[in-house]
Parts: sequence; structure tokens; C-alpha cells
Amino acid sequence: MLTLAISKGRIYEEALPLLAQVGIEPTVDPDKSRKLILPTNREEVQLLIVRATDVPTYVEYGAADLGIAGKDVLVEYDAQGLYEPLDLGIARCRLMTAAMKDSAPVSRGRLRVATKYVKTTHRYFAGRGIQAEIIKLYGSMELAPLVGLAHCIVDLVDTGNTLRANGLEPRDLIMEVSSRLIVNKAAMKMKHREVTSFVEELRQVVSERSKQAG
Ligand code: AMP
Repeated sequence: MLTLAISKGRIYEEALPLLAQVGIEPTVDPDKSRKLILPTNREEVQLLIVRATDVPTYVEYGAADLGIAGKDVLVEYDAQGLYEPLDLGIARCRLMTAAMKDSAPVSRGRLRVATKYVKTTHRYFAGRGIQAEIIKLYGSMELAPLVGLAHCIVDLVDTGNTLRANGLEPRDLIMEVSSRLIVNKAAMKMKHREVTSFVEELRQVVSERSKQAG
């Protein structure tokens, strides 16, 4: 059995066509079912539906052999027990700082930054010699500058519409983000043939796609 951990939403939607191209199709739609273990057309492959931030945990502990997770989550999680053999090139976006439109940089006092990416944000500002106070939030980061909780935020930006709708603007790029295939280190040894053939098939699909995209 090969078990793949994945989160619902954008990553799932964009991963489905890739999985279909390597002959894996879930037989249950996670949006229409409450099932968290999805069987597929291939008896030996199943999907685990987990929170995006939990994907590395399932894979690191071997509860899933493989996973699909955003680079943002992987950098924040700082996993040791897993391989990251393939950039799938899906769910692309950028991790950025953002602040109120046209607001001046903070000149007095300590910069307060609201984010769910506490470690990544701390590393980013520390690397620039800025001692920022990081305020951990679990969602609706855009609200924080509007109500004076923070001077700026660190969040994922795709079109920028969410920022604009809340009177914010993107400022500095922290990193480009896309989804990666991750593999449990023990599974790579114990299920070597199955795992490597899955990785190589996906690699081929991804490379053909990127050639087509020019
Ligand atoms: P946008 O309004 O298109 O800039 O999208 C920003 C919102 O979508 C933010 O709430 C982000 O957290 C979320 N978002 C954008 N891209 C992704 C992604 N690749 N994965 C997960 N969430 C995303």
C-alpha cells in the first residue's frame, strides 16, 4: 500500500490532474464526503486528507509514505525525516510582507508583524538585522494592520486581490512558493521500488508540462 497525504483546496485541485496522468484517480470526492481516507482506482494507493500544515507531520512519522505540501509549510516546519525529491510546480504563489497602502516604514519602536509563519518570519527579519515582534495568528492576517494589531503581515500572495480588498499592498518578497512532493525516509528504503517508480512517473509528467508551458 502507498499512502499519500494531501490537503483539500487549491493543492488538491491542482494535484488531481497530475495524479490522473500517472493513473491515480480518487474514487471519492473529498468535497462531497466526510471520508478522510480516500480510496483510488488503484487498490494499492490511498490518499489521506489532512490540514496543509499537518502534511509534513504525517510523512515524517511514516503515517503517510508520501505527501504534497507547499514550500511555505515545509520551510516553516523545518522537517528532518523526509526527502523532497520533486517540485510539482503547482499552487504557485509568493510569501510576502504586506502593509497598509502607502504607509510609511516604522521609524520608532519595534516593528510588529502578524503571521502564521512565525519561524520563517523571524528568520527573515533577523537576517536583515531587524528585531521584529512576531504575533502568531491562525487566519485573516489582513485584518491585523487595519485594527492596529500589527504594522505589517507576512502571508501568501497570489493575485494580490485579498490584500487590495483590505487596503493593503504587497511589499517585499520572502520566497517563491510551489507544492513539493515529499517522501518518508524509511518508506524510500522499505518500499523503494513503488516509491521511486511513483516519483519518476510524476517527474516525467511535471517535466512534460513545463516543456509545454514553454
Ligand atoms: P490572492 O487574493 O489571489 O492574492 O490570494 C491570497 C489568499 O489566498 C491568501 O489568503 C492566501 O493565504 C491564499 N493563497 C494564495 N495562494 C495560495 C496557495 N498556493 N496555497 C494556499 N493558499 C494560498
